[in-house]
Amino acid sequence: MLKLAVWKFSSCDGCQLSLLDCEDELLLITEKIQIAYFLEASRRKMKGPYDLSLIEGSVTTSEERERALSIRKNSLLVVTIGACATAGGIQALRNFSQVNQYISQVYPRPEFIETLKESLPISHFIPVDYELRGCPISKRQLLQLISSLLVGKRPSFPTESVCAECKRKGNICVMVAHQTPCLGPVTQCGCDALCPTYRRGCYGCFGPKETPNTSSLAQWLNQESHLSPKEISHLFRSYNATSTSFQKESERWNVKPSEIYEKDKKEEDKEGKNKGGQGRPKDLKKGSGKKED
Ligand code: SF4
Ligand code: SF4
Ligand code: SF4
Repeated sequence: MLKLAVWKFSSCDGCQLSLLDCEDELLLITEKIQIAYFLEASRRKMKGPYDLSLIEGSVTTSEERERALSIRKNSLLVVTIGACATAGGIQALRNFSQVNQYISQVYPRPEFIETLKESLPISHFIPVDYELRGCPISKRQLLQLISSLLVGKRPSFPTESVCAECKRKGNICVMVAHQTPCLGPVTQCGCDALCPTYRRGCYGCFGPKETPNTSSLAQWLNQESHLSPKEISHLFRSYNATSTSFQKESERWNVKPSEIYEKDKKEEDKEGKNKGGQGRPKDLKKGSGKKED
């Protein structure tokens, strides 16, 4: 019998709802799972140790930091579920600003608020065994994780891009057909290409795929979708803004267009020198795309 605990940190509860949404499937395996701690589903609180702890949400307070350490000590396996727990979530946008400014604008009595300066993923504080991406997570991947663990198999999830799933579904590419910005080429699959299937661009909620070529996509968005540098920066700065590759790309475009041109030119010249040849100007033209606000 697998003793399961589900923990909430700073989050919207959407990923826990995905687990509750699995009730039909979980009923089939009730003899194999014991829900020991899951406050969203039951008031019963069984003490640890637990075989599997699912953690939703990011760490934004010192209490959560201590709780993460205690969960790790009491759990055989720890799995983080959703963009908040795996990458800091949308609330990690505070990491790019001064949290005290927000607090004084949002709360009438800011002195009652105690919070850390940054929203950080659980893996920043404790070792994590597996992570499920997405905002929210995919129900299919969650069931796959639980059933693999029940039969003693290592769960494995594909790391290809959303584009691969999108093509398999036979979708018409929204970028090619309508120049709609889409992060599908650099985002990890798992959602069955949900947004492009409904003719929307991907917002990258599953986070970066392995070795994403974000700079090439950003160039395309600038030239073909005519996004301004600021818009490109914002596109990479959402659910997974602190994931290394997305953060780097968002910072690269969070400057004036002329600065991007100068930066690219310097890199190209350096590359040319190293190869013993002339630096090749990039396709990005000075002032291309919309103007900065
Ligand atoms: S990842 Fe998204 S759905 Fe899940 S808890 Fe965070 S905000 Fe909610
Ligand atoms: S619509 Fe987006 S995800 Fe689908 S193929 Fe085009 S770029 Fe890739
Ligand atoms: S298409 Fe992109 S934004 Fe939409 S659910 Fe999938 S990963 Fe998330």
